[in-house]
Amino acid sequence: MKIRKNDTVLVIAGKDKGKRGKVRFAYPKRERVLVEGVNFIKKHSRARGAVRQAGIIEREAPIHVSDVMLLCSKCNHPARVGFRSLADGRKVRFCCSCGEVID
Ligand SMILES: [Zn+2]
Repeated sequence: MKIRKNDTVLVIAGKDKGKRGKVRFAYPKRERVLVEGVNFIKKHSRARGAVRQAGIIEREAPIHVSDVMLLCSKCNHPARVGFRSLADGRKVRFCCSCGEVID
């Protein structure tokens, strides 16, 4: 997946469009990411034992990877991400606007 944990991303679609945040979790199978401070939902929960309290809990929900863009730490732009193979066979991501290798 193009977006990974600990990436800083810019939200480009949805109600939180324009926000930026750090990726807390990535769900490659579902092609979703959980971004800090983005896409809060209200969850209604019922008490279950002593651990969970009843009421409405606000928490972040994962959003689709296509709704975010990676913020390049080098050129500080929302970047399209490409993949490139290094001489040692490793596959790395790179920023399509400045060409810098991301990881
Ligand atoms: Zn860049």
